[in-house]
Amino acid sequence: MTDETLYNRLFRNVPDADKLFLETAEGRSLTYADVQAGAGRMANALVELGIKPGDRVAVQVEKTPEALLLYLGTIRAGAVYLPLNTGYTLTELAYFLEDAKPTVVVCDPQARTEIASLPEAQSVASVETLDAAGKGSLAERMARQGDAFETVQRAGDDLAAILYTSGTTGRSKGAMLTQENLAFNAGILVDYWRFTADDVLIHALPFFHTHGLFVATNTLLMAGGSVFFLPRFDAETVVRLMPRATALMGVPTFYTRLLAHEAFTKEVAQGMRLFISGSAPLLAETHREFSERTGHAILERYGMTEINMTTSNPYEGERRPGTVGFPLPGTELRVVDLETGTPIATDEVGVIEVRGPHVFKGYWQMPEKTASEFRSDGFFITGDLGKIDTDGYVHIVGRDKDLIISGGFNVYPKEVESEIDALEGVVESAVIGVPHPDFGEGVTAVVVRKAGSNLDEAEVLDALKDRLARYKQPKRAFFVDELPRNTMGKVQKNTLRETYGTLYQPAHSG
Ligand code: AMP
Repeated sequence: MTDETLYNRLFRNVPDADKLFLETAEGRSLTYADVQAGAGRMANALVELGIKPGDRVAVQVEKTPEALLLYLGTIRAGAVYLPLNTGYTLTELAYFLEDAKPTVVVCDPQARTEIASLPEAQSVASVETLDAAGKGSLAERMARQGDAFETVQRAGDDLAAILYTSGTTGRSKGAMLTQENLAFNAGILVDYWRFTADDVLIHALPFFHTHGLFVATNTLLMAGGSVFFLPRFDAETVVRLMPRATALMGVPTFYTRLLAHEAFTKEVAQGMRLFISGSAPLLAETHREFSERTGHAILERYGMTEINMTTSNPYEGERRPGTVGFPLPGTELRVVDLETGTPIATDEVGVIEVRGPHVFKGYWQMPEKTASEFRSDGFFITGDLGKIDTDGYVHIVGRDKDLIISGGFNVYPKEVESEIDALEGVVESAVIGVPHPDFGEGVTAVVVRKAGSNLDEAEVLDALKDRLARYKQPKRAFFVDELPRNTMGKVQKNTLRETYGTLYQPAHSG
């Protein structure tokens, strides 16, 4: 572990201070010199607001170049960046403020009064604003500062960020990410995915989540490359900019939306060298359609907030659809039995556990929760179910909480979903467990049909009879226009479980 700060490591390979780092869709641009000067002004502004090393800066703002400077200024000042999903409500914010006790909160001007008057905000030294155009009280304060700032010395083990996990059950947990976690992972990704100063990445991911914040931003900074910094994914804008780009990092929905866009052709994608997908499973069908349309094999990788990027399909060699590739250099990954925690054989499904310099330090102020999610030998229990095949490719089959136990047997939703997805007329499906009086849980399928298909429930259930053991076969299948997803493209199985929760309950009589 080195004690060179994350900030300095990100800027270690600046090819030339005049090199462009960022361009917006409107043509606004920042060079590396602008970014470093801006981060210096931001760090000075934060210090003026009372920020000391280790203090938290909580941020709920739209994605703008100023938000990027706020992230960089925060780590440069030795403070801890705490980004919050722009969709969080005031009640949710109150919890994060109470839990993380930030010294400074930065929010949209419209939310300022409400946030500042929360009882949980009383210990906050200052509530500052930044709007969707990068203007607000923080931008004004920043404009009054000098560019020079001596980057605060931090140890590798000191925190750089706290990211609250989307936690679908119980309280949301703050994952503590250290300087070393982030710098180490960015270094690995630059090498593994061959990023250089010649790269131009289309950055259309949210800036509050690990994927857009760290994977996309840190990697390109460390490579000395540049980014098109877009507030959100819009297929038309992405297609327009693609001829000037070399790489895209996306969630699977980016790829399905591109495929649905007529103007997205082989010619448009010609100058691109790499399409990366993660944060949710990429359908094998999308992978196939994409390579038919463009000649590019999407590179799928796997990670999570707590462990950063952990596996990846190879840069050279077969990018195998439906898999997340191999453990990245520096990552130790094993699959263990769900109940006993002992390692299991190749091709058997179990829980994925991970160890390495990219694995987070623990959950903020939750020592017991942290202890229960690490094994005594330092492996983190991810809660993802998966297997390693005979060629060493890692497969993710779902979250352990999505595992269905029907009649005492384990049913892995992915296995059933893959069979349904392969049926004529099906776009995709989600398989959930719903409380059932006889079986504990009843396997239930929610299916999206292709336009024009009139596949019905009986046909779906019939088609699976020869393909799946009886206990894995769905008892019911429903059709929806689209599956509920969050901004990262993850299917919200909780929502589905709520919708179909009483399906198998006996009807009340009288
Ligand atoms: P987050 O912490 O929001 O990044 O979510 C991490 C979770 O997303 C992981 O624990 C996985 O369940 C899921 N995930 C990430 N990448 C993939 C992938 N390529 N395939 C399947 N699931 C994924």
